[in-house]
Amino acid sequence: MKKLIVWLLPLLLATFVSIAVGQSAPPSCQQCAEWNQPQKPFRIFGNSYYVGPHGLSSVLITSDAGHILIDGALPESAPLIVDNIRALGFRIEDVKIILNSHVHSDHAGGIHGLQRLSGARVLASTWSAGVMKRGGVGRDDPQYGSITGIAPIKKVEDLHDGETFNIGATSITAHLTPGHTPGGTSWTWKSCEGNVCRDIVYADSLTPISTKGFHFTNSRTYPHALDDFEKSFKFLETTPCDILITVHPGVSNLWERVEARQRGTTPDPMVDPGACRELAGKARAQLRQRIEEELKQ
Ligand SMILES: [Zn+2]
Repeated sequence: MKKLIVWLLPLLLATFVSIAVGQSAPPSCQQCAEWNQPQKPFRIFGNSYYVGPHGLSSVLITSDAGHILIDGALPESAPLIVDNIRALGFRIEDVKIILNSHVHSDHAGGIHGLQRLSGARVLASTWSAGVMKRGGVGRDDPQYGSITGIAPIKKVEDLHDGETFNIGATSITAHLTPGHTPGGTSWTWKSCEGNVCRDIVYADSLTPISTKGFHFTNSRTYPHALDDFEKSFKFLETTPCDILITVHPGVSNLWERVEARQRGTTPDPMVDPGACRELAGKARAQLRQRIEEELKQ
């Protein structure tokens, strides 16, 4: 009997967790099922780990004083993130802070469930925190009206551009990188292995995507969109950047880099100090093209 309970308990717990964090909810967009494909978690560098599904990044930064989790992917990704954290030998209950890149369902949707399981503090830019507390999609979001919103997150604290906070020996800094949304945030920190320390950049989306009819060049709801993008490009062009992780891992060729690393390629293919500048260049070109299209209309 005791043996049976030992076997059944984790199963029952897993089922409860799945229901609690919304695994049974239907996928929230067309590409979501594809993005939510399981991914074996792995060490990025030092105390930084990839714990997201295959198509949406989620990063765990660990310390003896508790962990930081950046992004929760989709609502239906939460159980997968919990499993990945556990597979690495850590506990969701030890996640003390949850951060976010931007408040769209594919990066912030899972935070609701992950906060409930961990009891972690959720910290976000003032604009993002406002949307998180209300739920849904921000009215001045370029994609307002065409995307699924998020479930309201109960307690969210505001943070400011350049704010740094510490957990254990890790110091993590918020950089407001708006444009894709008015509250977009990227994150930087250092992770070390022995004497080798790397500057890690978790870069938010910088794509000018919108609902039909929205113009980045002339928007009443988001009049400073172009200035915001410029600020964000400048950040990427100047920030120390050894290892770049983008919120959609494919954007920075993460899986090619992981494969090359598994083949034993040296130097470490995960490290590319030019990656952030290259991403800024691509994002600038995308915005330029979008502006040209808008001006033709
Ligand atoms: Zn988005």
